[in-house]
Amino acid sequence: VPRNPKNSGELALIDHIRTRASTIPSRHLRLGIGDDCAILAPPTGHELLVTTDFSLENRHFRRSAHPPEAIGHRALARGLSDLAAMGATPLACFLSLALPGSIARHPTWLNRFLDGFLALAAQHHFPLAGGDTSESPRISPKNDGFVLADITALGSAPAHRALRRSTARPGDFLYVTGALGGAAAELSALLKRASKPGAPHLASEMRPSTESATGNHPHLFPQPRLAVGQTLLRRRLATACIDLSDGLSTDLNHLCTASNVSAELDVDRLPAHSLTAALTNAAQIAAILHGGEDYELLFTAAPTTTIPRSIAGVPITRIGVILKHVPRRPRLLIVSGDTRFELLPQGWEHLK
Ligand SMILES: [Mg+2]
Repeated sequence: VPRNPKNSGELALIDHIRTRASTIPSRHLRLGIGDDCAILAPPTGHELLVTTDFSLENRHFRRSAHPPEAIGHRALARGLSDLAAMGATPLACFLSLALPGSIARHPTWLNRFLDGFLALAAQHHFPLAGGDTSESPRISPKNDGFVLADITALGSAPAHRALRRSTARPGDFLYVTGALGGAAAELSALLKRASKPGAPHLASEMRPSTESATGNHPHLFPQPRLAVGQTLLRRRLATACIDLSDGLSTDLNHLCTASNVSAELDVDRLPAHSLTAALTNAAQIAAILHGGEDYELLFTAAPTTTIPRSIAGVPITRIGVILKHVPRRPRLLIVSGDTRFELLPQGWEHLK
């Protein structure tokens, strides 16, 4: 199918995004939106780190339940968290959007999406350096299509120093930043509220400012741990690192499989997010172990390395130990008092 030339609405949209994006200064961006390519100047002696993520309506968010600011924030937070996991410094991000015609013509929703996206980008000196837009295909007379936000995040790290998930060693201790289960707890409260008949839509009623967005909304406004990742790299504290996007059990399994090791978690040490207190005991432990999208960092360090109680203001908790993997034995164990259980990684389910 030949590509249609952009219509005037799309060009106006790109111009609008370009004007708004120009507010984030950067030392590493030589040329941003407006030419055929962006030009980046990574710091001398650094390697480039690149990650992509797309956020698809009704898969990763719902327009009826999520404020547009949160959808923009979360679209970028996923990429930033991947950079954080490898200890990278953010360089520039790219955003490609498919938008239903109703949004493309009346960009209130888009402006609020950009409020959330650009506030998080500015917080991390992460200029929006390019992208693309298109109108989503209409699905039916009543449904003019879905929102898709596709981001590319570029960062850099000193050559050969980026943190990896494949380098944990038996005997290392296992640590996590922040608290766990908050995103799952907030999401379940959000969906419960959105499903109540007659309840006002959170999306229309809630317009969080960037100041109030920090800390108390682990699902809507997760805070990627870039400063922690950079400190782990700079001070050579971690042997391996991964971010918690799919949930502790799943991401720990990723780290252990990549490193060919096993791990033992101490259930009594796991830091529960305060929002999980509203859940039943079973739901609370499920949110902590399997709830996705906390965007905390899970890392390992040699037992001889002193890990601070907090890094860049974020509490660090030791939650277990890395063991030698024995074939046909469980990869993940969980210890409660004197009892050991096998922990099965439970995949994170996207919104249904
Ligand atoms: Mg990741």
